[in-house]
Amino acid sequence: MEMGRIRILDPVTANKIAAGEVVERPAAVVKELIENSLDAEASRIEIYVEKGGMRLIRVVDDGCGMSARDVANALERHATSKIEREEDLYAVRTMGFRGEALPSIAAVSRFSLLSRRASDQFGTKIVVHGGEKISVSEAGSPAGTEVIAADLFYNTPARLKFLKSEAAETARITATVQRLALARPEVSFCLYINGRTKFVTPGSGKLADVAALVLGGQNMHSMLPLSWQGQLLNMSGFVSKPSLNRSNRNLQYIYVNKRPVYSPLLSDSLQTTYHTLLPRNRFPAAIIFVDIAPSEIDVNVHPTKKEVRFSRERDVYREFLKGVRDVLLNNSLIAELQQPGLAGLETAVASSLPDYGIKIKDANPPALYSMPETRPEQSLFENSCKGSGEEKQEDRKEGETGSSLFPGLAPLGQYKSTYILAQSAAGDLYIIDQHAAHERIIYDQLKKDLSAGNLPVQEILPQTFEFDFQTAALLQENLDIFENLGFKFAVFGNNTFILRTVPAFFNHSLRQEDIAELLSSENNASSDSRLFEKTLQMIACKAAIKANHRLDEQEMTALLRNLAATSQPFTCPHGRPAIMVLTEQAIARNFRRT
Ligand code: ADP
Ligand code: MG
Repeated sequence: MEMGRIRILDPVTANKIAAGEVVERPAAVVKELIENSLDAEASRIEIYVEKGGMRLIRVVDDGCGMSARDVANALERHATSKIEREEDLYAVRTMGFRGEALPSIAAVSRFSLLSRRASDQFGTKIVVHGGEKISVSEAGSPAGTEVIAADLFYNTPARLKFLKSEAAETARITATVQRLALARPEVSFCLYINGRTKFVTPGSGKLADVAALVLGGQNMHSMLPLSWQGQLLNMSGFVSKPSLNRSNRNLQYIYVNKRPVYSPLLSDSLQTTYHTLLPRNRFPAAIIFVDIAPSEIDVNVHPTKKEVRFSRERDVYREFLKGVRDVLLNNSLIAELQQPGLAGLETAVASSLPDYGIKIKDANPPALYSMPETRPEQSLFENSCKGSGEEKQEDRKEGETGSSLFPGLAPLGQYKSTYILAQSAAGDLYIIDQHAAHERIIYDQLKKDLSAGNLPVQEILPQTFEFDFQTAALLQENLDIFENLGFKFAVFGNNTFILRTVPAFFNHSLRQEDIAELLSSENNASSDSRLFEKTLQMIACKAAIKANHRLDEQEMTALLRNLAATSQPFTCPHGRPAIMVLTEQAIARNFRRT
């Protein structure tokens, strides 16, 4: 008989290969070790890191510890105390369960583990180098567990080369520790980098304490608490006002059953909720805990368990969106002006007062403060575009709209013919961008008209457009979308189109470039709803009053009243702020009156 070519790998080699999946870099080692400490119900976890984790990773906990037998067993592949049968996989509540981390780490480092249960007199120490057991012995130890992984990847040079700079690896480790610390405010995390304290949480049990450390205390002023119970899932945590945002998702922390996850589904849902509240490619800050029955998810999709799969994706998407939306609708989203800016005025005032162009008139409040009777239209979060899978508004409670949080405002005057200055009954000073505000008003009105199915249109003198081949083809494909929005084109052949109607209030001419621009980034036909939305925003933008446009008092009053009646008065539909506040308190503080 011929010798077979298939060989069973020796355990050392097998572990090295598997290690590549579980521990691709130092931060992954840190994550696995912390998760083990959390599973052991530690109340304090110390993490020591040297040279980006490449020289040393040491994690010490005060958790349950292990018996001598368990210490020896823990280093065997697929040795786990957390599940017994396959069915258990669907009810996992612990962080670990695959029994792969310790043997994988031990395969690619100079590894040691020292552990003692509180009830045992002595601890046990095991030393493994590059997957080869060096020794197991009785040893003195505090109750709990200490794991050391030194010289990571010393025996897998290929992987070592793949690592980034010390600074980059350290940053990843810090982010990993912070991500886990947020999930467990009741546990004190202490991270030491090259002997220096980097990050310490108090273990107070209060999420806000950890959040302030991770996001920065100042940013916490922009975070709104989230607490929501749905059919399928519960949510808690914080989401930011639109004013706190980033160009990437670095300030987003999303957890499912306390496990940090990467879920395009949830990230997407979050982003959709901020639609029109944020400029494109800006991302809110968020710390969101989703609690869901373990049977509804599969966490065993990825060796490092960072991905999660939901069995009812659409329902999860929708409920998650509702939970976040609830916060955004029930809180004032007005950004406070950063107050340090005013401090400089102290000296400026000493010299002669320059003309700032502010027409201040006596605010004579009462009459004007009454809010308009109109029921705010609840259209913002309803995406009237087809196929967007978003919710209708029926389930929203009466009166709970953004605008009930909008202050009654009396105009004081106009600044630079661009901003309206206004005072609230509470005495705070508001600055409203007239263009952004008007855009929001028109946008809301349009949506209202569209969902009522009666967008009034007007016939215009036929306007002829001749497009390049590609744009013409795209327009041809999307004629119905434009028509729904009041722009009726007749096709004239040869890439020529004739525009016959526009929305009734639209007294602006469309330029060839406007249409080409709308269509240009839409080459992927998948996004009908994006084209619809962009067109809607373009109409609102063009039709809105511009900066450098004088408004009289009636116009200002009307603008403020109409803004208050919109579903989302705090930003323009592109997500730029429409209004800011300078509180009386902040003003008084800056003048040293308090
Ligand atoms: P898993 O966490 O998937 O079970 P690991 O390889 O990470 O697999 O750990 C193997 C086992 O070792 C765990 O199931 C647990 O019983 C034990 N263990 C690991 N780390 C600790 C620790 N810090 N404290 C107590 N027990 C631990
Ligand atoms: Mg583990």
